[in-house]
Amino acid sequence: MILRRLLHPLPVFALTLFILVLLDLQLRTRSDQNPFAPFAREPTASLSRTLAVNQHRDVVLENQKQKRQKWRGLKPQQSLKLTDIFIAVKTTGRFHKTRLALLLETWISRTKDHTYIFTDSPDEDISSEGFNVVVTDCSPEHSHQALSCKMAAEYHHFMASDKKWFCHVDDDNYLNPGALLSLLTAFPRDGDIYVGKPSLDRPMRAQELLEGNKTRDVRFWFATGGAGFCLSRKLAEKMAPWASGPRFEQTSAAIMLPDDCTVGFIVERRLGFSMVHSNMFHSHLENLLQISPSDIPKQVTLSYGWFENKMNSVELKGVFTKDEDPSRFRTVHCLLYPSTSWCHVALKNVLSWNQHGFQ
Ligand code: UDP
Ligand code: MN
Repeated sequence: MILRRLLHPLPVFALTLFILVLLDLQLRTRSDQNPFAPFAREPTASLSRTLAVNQHRDVVLENQKQKRQKWRGLKPQQSLKLTDIFIAVKTTGRFHKTRLALLLETWISRTKDHTYIFTDSPDEDISSEGFNVVVTDCSPEHSHQALSCKMAAEYHHFMASDKKWFCHVDDDNYLNPGALLSLLTAFPRDGDIYVGKPSLDRPMRAQELLEGNKTRDVRFWFATGGAGFCLSRKLAEKMAPWASGPRFEQTSAAIMLPDDCTVGFIVERRLGFSMVHSNMFHSHLENLLQISPSDIPKQVTLSYGWFENKMNSVELKGVFTKDEDPSRFRTVHCLLYPSTSWCHVALKNVLSWNQHGFQ
């Protein structure tokens, strides 16, 4: 009787154990199937070659082991700091006192130490205030060659730095440092990441010049420079054969396209990595009115510009009128950093004007 009672739970226990082992096996197989799908690349070519030599089982097991080791190394970057990000701003002499001055007063004042301004003319007023100004030898033009020359300088200075990420913006971009840090922190450490927003809804088509005056059709996605984009150091290092020294301009000339397209071409066509498409980067090529005011603090970049005689900018109410702040960058800055001194001054002016108006 006692023996029977003892034996009765045994089959239940054995069954539970069996189910648990099965579940564990299933979970293991799932985790082998690519936990960071968008950022992963499989060694498919070498794997299929080896499989052909009929070592199927050993190869699969070895591959699974390698993958497990690979994913174990890819941890989110909890410890990433804002100062780990190299921020490159592209500008030109004639925009120093207008576009650039607005950025220096707003977001660059919060990221001064790790923001580098790439221009074509020296400016003692800006340098003497402690901003990092890099005066390139590039011509002050809007030509493909001049723009690629500045991008090559940005790449070169980043590679010589100890920063973990390279981010590029134009001088008509507002960059939200907090949103940028959140975005980049979510990527796996040591991932091969190229993130930004395409300006087209389809891949770019280009003609690549080959030897002997031949050409070939190429397609690739690229992040529009006017919305800003970022590259992880690991990926930037792999780009060197097509981006270091004079090579970036040579690659740009080979596809007859400007700097931002060249970055996309190198990453997607030369290296075979896919760009990560993000909706949090914005250029003035899109209708900025479509960003709802409550979403503005979450965006990584914003922009502004004239389109058909009207200002294309985000719509956000604040202490500055549209005449005082046509880009809305000051208004955005006061929303993100309300303790900024000139935000208080503006608020006081509005309050005293209201008081005066009521008397
Ligand atoms: N730019 C430049 N040289 C020029 C004109 C523009 O270096 O002669 C830079 C400018 O400072 C900006 C970027 O190129 O960072 C894009 O310029 P813009 O916004 O005027 O033109 P877009 O390409 O956005 O229409
Ligand atoms: Mn622009």
